[in-house]
Amino acid sequence: MNNYQKTIGIEVHCELKTKTKMFSDTLNSYEGSENSHINTIDLAYPGTLPLINHGAVQLALKAALLFHCDINKTMSFDRKNYFYPDLPKGYQITQARTPIGINGYVMIEVQGEKKKVRIHDIHIEEDTAKSIHQVDKSYLDFNRSGVPLIEIVTEPDMHTEEEAMAYLHKLRELLVYADISDCKMEEGSMRCDVNVSVSMNEQLGVRTETKNIGSISSVGKAIKAEAKRQIEALENGEKIVEETRRFDEKDEKTILMRVKETGNDYRYFPEPNIPEFTLTEEEIEEVKQSIPKMPDALREEYHELNVNENNIKTLIAHRELCSFFEQVKEYDSVITSNLLTGDVLSYLNKNNLKIKDIKLTKEHMRDIVQKIHDQEISSKQVKKLLPILMEKGGQVAILMNELGMVQISDDHALQQLVDQVIADNPASVEDFKNGKDRAIKYLMGQIMKASRGQANPVSVNRLLLDTLNKGDLN
Ligand code: ADP
Ligand code: MG
Repeated sequence: MNNYQKTIGIEVHCELKTKTKMFSDTLNSYEGSENSHINTIDLAYPGTLPLINHGAVQLALKAALLFHCDINKTMSFDRKNYFYPDLPKGYQITQARTPIGINGYVMIEVQGEKKKVRIHDIHIEEDTAKSIHQVDKSYLDFNRSGVPLIEIVTEPDMHTEEEAMAYLHKLRELLVYADISDCKMEEGSMRCDVNVSVSMNEQLGVRTETKNIGSISSVGKAIKAEAKRQIEALENGEKIVEETRRFDEKDEKTILMRVKETGNDYRYFPEPNIPEFTLTEEEIEEVKQSIPKMPDALREEYHELNVNENNIKTLIAHRELCSFFEQVKEYDSVITSNLLTGDVLSYLNKNNLKIKDIKLTKEHMRDIVQKIHDQEISSKQVKKLLPILMEKGGQVAILMNELGMVQISDDHALQQLVDQVIADNPASVEDFKNGKDRAIKYLMGQIMKASRGQANPVSVNRLLLDTLNKGDLN
């Protein structure tokens, strides 16, 4: 049983984050009640004609570039014919002859090992309506009808469920990061079909396709279950048939849906209502320039900037916070990453806000970092200042003045505090003489308290040690 090798190829559908649909100017939105974002084109009224949404083409192009594809600059569309209530036209507009991208790849990492997953192609198509089946009736919601999709098809390059899951995580990370798709499996904006076969030799086995899998971890479970089923069948002398199956989350089993249609059933032919068009070099270059730095590159760079692992993870998981960090990291990558992933992020979470909703600016970060470097502000004071800056804005120096956040850095004034605290705490002074370092911390704390947090801690530390070491204390 152990001599079987699993082979996996994955087809992912992702809805593109456009304002309007692929071929009509209806809103592309998951919000709102059923059948509220529809028009005659989405409903396929006779005589209506599709009009290409160029924004969708650009997002698809961005994806194709991101997955290192060769670009089919001359674009055409095809009809995939089939009859089902969720498709009132009787065909889906897709790209069969000229997918926007071909021959790409994605790098994945499983247990420290890097591996290339080849992308066969990325093509543009339109989504169908959503069927809602109830006990005695079925309903259709056309809000989804005509939403732009890309389908990303891999070569059969994966051999374990871990590889398949790593691929999907990577794909989602890239598409979300580049603002191409939300990739929410729970909302259906990312859906994957998993092709699985098993074989004992170099030749690939007959594969089945499992659909409707609800999460990336379920993809792992579905592959495991389907490979097990196939191996058991082969061991029993049965043949594997090309068929479409679905995954039952509860029983962790795949279940037969239908025997597979072959390509011919779809009677593909060129879509006559959409004239062929060609992407210009300038347009391709422009889209290339719009691709932000991707997580792998960011991880490496932040590592070199001494940002700690936790902060790196948090920044990468919060795309908008991360782009803000990109603007301020030059001031001090460690301090700014700490502030953003700490106080700033918790403020955003608590108030359910995004970084663009708050008044904190690049200049605020620059001034705070400057004051921290010059020891003109304590970390406690920063904590107090940040929420005000986030809520109301203003200028750091002026605000600090208004809040009475002055640091006492004058040695003469500080020495008085030091002397007073030493006089009040003879036991700690005795401890210090006996070599107990703890005493310093305690005395420091007392001095900071006496100054109401305003003493410059570095100066206090210096003065305190000087005074204690003079040794003429009694
Ligand atoms: P279809 O047009 O029927 O969807 P494709 O040839 O486009 O078929 O392949 C769909 C997916 O199936 C691809 O991701 C491909 O890598 C994968 N695939 C093809 N053959 C196998 C196989 N023997 N085992 C596993 N996956 C396979
Ligand atoms: Mg397919």
